[in-house]
Amino acid sequence: MSSTKAGRRALITGLTGQDGSYLAEQLLAQGYEVFGLIRRLSTPNTRHIEGFADRVTLIDGDLLDQASLDAAVRQSEPDEIYNLAAQSFVGASFTQPVVTGEVTGLGVLRLLEAMRTRADRARFYQAASSEMFGRVRRSPQDESTEFHPRSPYGVAKVYAYWACVNYRESYGLFVANGILFNHESPRRGHEFVTRKISDGVARIKLGLAKAIRLGTLTTRRDWGYAPEYCDLMFRILQAPVADDFVGATGETHSVEEFVAAAFRHVGIQDWRPFVELDPRYARPADVDTLCGDPTKAREKLGWVPKVKFPELVGIMVDHDLGVLGAPGGHRSAARAPSAPTTPPA
Ligand code: GDP
Repeated sequence: MSSTKAGRRALITGLTGQDGSYLAEQLLAQGYEVFGLIRRLSTPNTRHIEGFADRVTLIDGDLLDQASLDAAVRQSEPDEIYNLAAQSFVGASFTQPVVTGEVTGLGVLRLLEAMRTRADRARFYQAASSEMFGRVRRSPQDESTEFHPRSPYGVAKVYAYWACVNYRESYGLFVANGILFNHESPRRGHEFVTRKISDGVARIKLGLAKAIRLGTLTTRRDWGYAPEYCDLMFRILQAPVADDFVGATGETHSVEEFVAAAFRHVGIQDWRPFVELDPRYARPADVDTLCGDPTKAREKLGWVPKVKFPELVGIMVDHDLGVLGAPGGHRSAARAPSAPTTPPA
C-alpha cells in the first residue's frame, strides 16, 4: 500500500530482526514516526537497521519485563503496535522451552497489558505463525483450520494467538493476528533452513565449503518473500475491523526442492554429493507439511504475494554469492525486486 500516513506513530518490537527491519523501512517511507523496542545485548545485533537507525527512536526493553513495556508504550504513544519480537527459532525452542514460553507466549500478554492500560485506542498486530497448525489434518490451511502445534515454539504461539483473541473480545481492543507462513529473505537468520542452504550453496560454488549438513530433506513449507509479508502486516492494521488473516503463497515445496533449486541456480545439476544428513539438525517432532490458503487476505485486503519459489531462491543465493565476493551475485541481487543488500551475520 502506498498511502501516506504522516504523523502516525508505530511501535515495533523485534525491530532488529528480518521482519522488523523491513516493516520499519515501509512505515518510514509512508511517513510514520517509528519507535523500536531494543533488547540490550552485549554484542549488538543492529546490522539490519543500520540504513535507517538515525530515523527511528530506539527504546530499551524486553518482553520479559513488564515495566519496560509499559514505559515503551507510554513514551511512544503508538497508533499501531507490531509485536514481531519472539524466540523465533523452532529448533531452539526444544532446548529452551521455558524461555520460549516466557518470551513468545507470555511476552505477548505483557505487551497487551501495556496497551490495555496505556494506549487502548492503538491497533495491535501479533505475529502469529503457521507453526500453530503443526500436524495438519487438512490442506491448505486457512483461518478456520484447527491448531496442533508440534514444538514449544508452536505451543507458545498458540497461547499468544488466543491471548490476542481474548483481549479483542474482552476489552474491545483492536488486536489482530497475522498467521504468516514461512517468509524468507537475505535478512533471514542463518539458523533457518533456507538461509543455511543459500549460504551453503554460495560457499560451495565459490570453493569455500564442501558440503551442507541438514536434518531432513522431506519436510515441506509454504515459503514466501518477507518484504511482501510485512506489507500484509500493515494492511491487517488498516482494516476496518480487527481480524485474523493467513499470509501464504498457496504453494508448498520440500527442503529437497529448495536444495535442488539453489544448486541449479548456480549451475550445479547434481546436488547429492554436496548434501549430508546430520541428525543434530533433526527435531524431536517436526511439522511435515504446510501450505496456506491466502484467499481471505486477497479478498479483504487486496494482498497478493508476487515473488514465487524459484525467484525467492534466486534472490537469496545471489545475495549470498554477492556477500562472499562473487561479482555475478551482486549483479543479480541488484536486479531482484527490492532485494535487500544487508550483509549476513
Ligand atoms: P520453521 O518452519 O520455522 O521450523 O523453519 P526452519 O527454516 O527452521 O525449518 C524448516 C524445515 O526445514 C523444518 O522441517 C526443519 O526440520 C527442516 N530442516 C532440515 N534441515 C534443517 C537444518 O539444518 N536447519 C533448519 N533450521 N531446518 C532444517
